[in-house]
Amino acid sequence: MTDSTGETRPPIPADIRRRVLVEAGHRCAIPTCRYIEVDVHHIVPWAQCQAHEYDNLIALCPNCHRRADRGEIDRKSLRLYKLNLRFAHDKFSQLEMDVLFQLATMQPGYGIPWLSYQTIFLKRLFDSDYIFLHETQSGMWTDGIKSNPDYIGVTDKGRAFVSELGLHEM
Ligand SMILES: [Zn+2]
Repeated sequence: MTDSTGETRPPIPADIRRRVLVEAGHRCAIPTCRYIEVDVHHIVPWAQCQAHEYDNLIALCPNCHRRADRGEIDRKSLRLYKLNLRFAHDKFSQLEMDVLFQLATMQPGYGIPWLSYQTIFLKRLFDSDYIFLHETQSGMWTDGIKSNPDYIGVTDKGRAFVSELGLHEM
């Protein structure tokens, strides 16, 4: 396969390509476009990364692909479009993502107070092992409910997920 600079490069492995296409429902990942003919685009250009990694790949139609290549759709925007697809795909709620992003900005050992009987709101984060619950020892109990909050914190896996999204880089 040849890219626009004429260099040869290995094809994108079929399983990675499929995952990228399925993530976008075999349509352009730009939500206002959603055209049905799609290419797989490298967010960080192939010439720079020389790798076919799922996190760096996004499904774009030929038009949006050209616009991305010209820099009319920048990398950060592409990452946000991919992120939106991943929210839908991984089925995290907006609350869960807000909580996870907040926790990921905190130093290890710090957390957010959370009522242990309300962990249901964060069920998918717990199921994914992205966060943990630290239960405090003391506190008053009223009808089986503890008056003082427990704490939630982010796991290494959760931090890795946030940094994988790469929203800090351009
Ligand atoms: Zn498009």
